[in-house]
Amino acid sequence: MISRIKGLLTKIGAGRTGAGSNPNSGGNGVVTRFAPSPTGMMHIGGVRTALYAYMWALKKGGTFILRIEDTDTERQVEGSIEHIQKSLKWLGIDWKYGPDKPGPFGSCIQSERLDTYKVYAQKLIDKGLAYPDPYTSEELESFRKMAEAEKRPFLYRKHRPAFADLPANSPERPKWDGSQALRFKVENPRRMKWHDVVRGDLEAGEEAVDDFILIKKDGYPTYNFAHIIDDLMMGVTHIMRGEEFISSTPKFLALYEGLGITPPTLVTLPPILRNDKTKKLGKRDGAKDILEYEREGFLPDAMVNFLALVGWNPGTEQEVFSRTQLVEAFDLAQVQKSGGVFNEEKLRWMNKEHLKKVPKDEIAAEIKKRLDKSERVKDLGWNVTPETAARIAPVVLERIEVYSDIDAMLADRDLDYYFSEPAYDALSLRWKDERDTAKTVEHLSSVKNILNGLADSDWKEASIKEVVWPYAEKEGRGQVLWPLRYALSGKDKSPNPFTLADILGKETTIRRIDEALKKCADAPII
Ligand code: GLU
Repeated sequence: MISRIKGLLTKIGAGRTGAGSNPNSGGNGVVTRFAPSPTGMMHIGGVRTALYAYMWALKKGGTFILRIEDTDTERQVEGSIEHIQKSLKWLGIDWKYGPDKPGPFGSCIQSERLDTYKVYAQKLIDKGLAYPDPYTSEELESFRKMAEAEKRPFLYRKHRPAFADLPANSPERPKWDGSQALRFKVENPRRMKWHDVVRGDLEAGEEAVDDFILIKKDGYPTYNFAHIIDDLMMGVTHIMRGEEFISSTPKFLALYEGLGITPPTLVTLPPILRNDKTKKLGKRDGAKDILEYEREGFLPDAMVNFLALVGWNPGTEQEVFSRTQLVEAFDLAQVQKSGGVFNEEKLRWMNKEHLKKVPKDEIAAEIKKRLDKSERVKDLGWNVTPETAARIAPVVLERIEVYSDIDAMLADRDLDYYFSEPAYDALSLRWKDERDTAKTVEHLSSVKNILNGLADSDWKEASIKEVVWPYAEKEGRGQVLWPLRYALSGKDKSPNPFTLADILGKETTIRRIDEALKKCADAPII
């Protein structure tokens, strides 16, 4: 096993030195990764990181890897790995290598790569750059307290055991047997400077560099060590991650130096802020499980479009992008430093824009699916055929931003009149200040006659309007169209009567006008 890994190391280790030599990149050189820890649900922040890494790889014809960082066994939450994959799949973010698809470098799950970290730990030991930590946790705690009392930052390297400075091959250096933590020995602590694509030139004083743990007592590597080895072996060229990793970067740089490797390009993504821009988005502000948005009926294309713009500025006025347009326009040079705002209103607007592009038969299928699931629809015994769903699709589309709004329309009784006879009382048929029911009757009867004269084959919104409109203009639009619309819907608010008549068909339209006339006959004239 170890010799196989060693073989790979020589091959892959060369990956960072020149484009085209990276076996994981599809020949082009760019390899990005999303490296979540399986500690719970995926939310907006994680998904945005994955999306940027994915888009960059796609744009460059490179490779995107999904790597699971599960070396902190205590923080793991069961089901997270499946949840991460499901979330990314929903959004159409595809990985070339992932937990389900090992690469030439082996598994993409860190807990299955422990041998690899040991190989590198040994390399560092052989170079005199790693040593077993001889202290108990009590001793460490007392060092820490001492530093605190003296008001100086605690640095482990100030307590580094003397043997750690002996030559690597000295017999007096204790061997690491795995029962203690293995620490990295920083050789040349100094002020560190580096470049971040988004943040520019950064630096930190030598107190940011310390002898950190490479492998814990439990045999698992730390994030600080494992990610560097994996990025190396996987040929990662660009690391996209949040700003919380900036403070540890000097440590990472010291390790890259110790290993003699060139660090990948670092890209710090901006934080995601609440709508009022005062704070980072937290769980209470809507940072919910990303699949919650799927359940609410958001379109993955809209979510991808929206998230892409939280922290990246395309430099134009364009806001609505297809996936292809996004990948074409996306550029790391335009990822902003300052926080990107998460505004759910904007997301809903974006979703509506994408809904407009969805083929009508898909909208109809979604309407049918949601109505078929409703207990109320079952109780009322509505006959929801694909044809009726297709007929109401355009009016439904006009009134929704997200598919779950269909459920709200249903709850508000805004779909009832397409499927069952409206219930209302005759007084509602009268337009505003109209006091004379006879007038309402007169208008309804005239419209009925006009509509009866319209051939079945002409029963379309435009022609219905064409024949009724002159009469309405003459007698008063409100006076004529209100009772007609009420007769068809039984609601104060509904689509206009021409649209309704078209959807309902001639027979139902005439029948409902007759019903209205009957109600008027029973109603008192005030
Ligand atoms: N496992 C780290 C996290 O979930 C990933 C950081 C990185 O991308 O390097 O925050």
